[in-house]
Amino acid sequence: MKVALIGVGQAGGKVTERLVRFDADMEFDAIQGGLVVNSAKADLQSLEFVDTQLIGADRVNGHGVGGDNELGAEIMQSDIDQVIGGIDGRITSSADAIFVVAGLGGGTGSGGAPVLVNNLQRVYDIPVYALGILPGRNEGSLYQANAGRSLKTIIREADSTLLIDNDAWHEQGESVEGAFETINENIAQRVGLLFASGEGMDGVGESVVDSSEVINTLRGGGVAALGYASELAAEESGENIRTVMNVSRQSLLTGTSLPDATTADAALLVIAGDPDVIPRKGVEKSRRWLEDETGSMQVRGGDFPLQSDRVAALVLLGGVERSDRIDQFMERAREAQKQEDEPREDPAEQFADDRLENLF
Ligand code: GDP
Repeated sequence: MKVALIGVGQAGGKVTERLVRFDADMEFDAIQGGLVVNSAKADLQSLEFVDTQLIGADRVNGHGVGGDNELGAEIMQSDIDQVIGGIDGRITSSADAIFVVAGLGGGTGSGGAPVLVNNLQRVYDIPVYALGILPGRNEGSLYQANAGRSLKTIIREADSTLLIDNDAWHEQGESVEGAFETINENIAQRVGLLFASGEGMDGVGESVVDSSEVINTLRGGGVAALGYASELAAEESGENIRTVMNVSRQSLLTGTSLPDATTADAALLVIAGDPDVIPRKGVEKSRRWLEDETGSMQVRGGDFPLQSDRVAALVLLGGVERSDRIDQFMERAREAQKQEDEPREDPAEQFADDRLENLF
């Protein structure tokens, strides 16, 4: 599918840039253009491969909003005409969808992305999706509280919100910060492959995925997740029935961007690899397995022909908001918000000791 990407904030910007680079390196040509918007000038200056736009200069003078997502939302709203104007030239009539990319736990992206999605919905007829990064379990309570409010709002505004949990898609034991590189690279590859697989390619096979299948999988709205797994392929197609089954299973059970999201309203299974060694039987069996496992009657499927010695499964899940991880996350976000809201004791109280005299 042809997509336009708009990154908001630091994480949104870095992930957008990665996606744009991956799409260009692979010559997929699925991403039409990327724009990154931020209130922090330094974050924009570190990006090389995307166009950038500074917002809120009159309020924060290029210094960012420092985790204040209400300010992030206000700034986006005040500068919305400029931002929409900047996006306008980059979205051509061939675009199938717009993705707004942001870390939900910060300030500019957390507050700005829902406002931007809301405004884009008024201007464009194509679907406007969010690609949201959820803070990992060990990230601080401000991140959790911010992400809770941002998620609630962005789900209301976007046609669907594809969530990447910062606890998924990196090695165990890596710190979240240390893992950003790995996570961003994985997002670029996997989401990049999803965009490219919905491109439809002339002359190769008949079950190539079409952009409408991605859009239909996301049609129910709410939260979406993406799963991925790959394995070395055998030379004989028949030997790969098990390989295709394995990667399909792993992509759902251990490879999703939102751990434990296995019950879904709709799913799309894309098997990527050399078409000569991908067995139809394996693809059909995997699809039936996915129907059972997700409990969805709407499981679509298709191939993505790629010259590679590996076979990969990409599973897009629509309507996974009833997952345990989302429940747990929202609970933590509510807890964190309560903490943030509690009035702090005056620190001077602790020193109100009569046995010591103040100096004056
Ligand atoms: P903003 O610039 O004010 O929008 O704030 P950030 O984009 O830094 O948002 C902070 C949230 O995004 C936190 O949950 C961070 O863990 C996460 N985050 C920041 N940078 C990255 C990154 O490069 N990759 C990923 N995956 N998450 C990030």
